[in-house]
Amino acid sequence: MHAAKKAMLDRRLLLAGVGAAGLLAALRWLAGSEVEAAGAFEIQKSDSEWRASLSKAQYDVLRLHHTETPGSSPLNKEKRKGTFACAGCDLPLFASETKYESGTGWPSFYAPLPDAIATSTDRLLFFPRTEVHCRRCGGHLGHVFEDGPPPTGLRYCMNGVALKFVPDAPA
Ligand SMILES: [Zn+2]
Repeated sequence: MHAAKKAMLDRRLLLAGVGAAGLLAALRWLAGSEVEAAGAFEIQKSDSEWRASLSKAQYDVLRLHHTETPGSSPLNKEKRKGTFACAGCDLPLFASETKYESGTGWPSFYAPLPDAIATSTDRLLFFPRTEVHCRRCGGHLGHVFEDGPPPTGLRYCMNGVALKFVPDAPA
């Protein structure tokens, strides 16, 4: 399935405000179609190009799916109005209005911007998780869980190092 179709479905689910059970079923259904092959992303770079364009910490998370130490990101405390963009390709991913304090030590959001992210199933742990990546460069951002606040009930648990904060220009 194409990323655009997935994103559309994600949006429909959010708009419909489906319950956790419906969402879980949808996520399971999505899991049936694994993430596109690496070649399918709009922005493609070789491994050495990514290494050259990212810091070691960014590379480890975005390209190797590592998880930053909780509480380590300065973005945990970022409270200004603005946009959180992909550290890999600058695509705007989350608006500050959807950020909330989850108490996890990772920057958390209840909804992404439209057409910003895509998901796949991550089986690194003994239970499958829904991995969240940038739909444009494929960079790993974090995971999404179903214990978030209204209106979506979702918790986008992001690695701060995978994001860049761009404050709104002062009015
Ligand atoms: Zn990106």
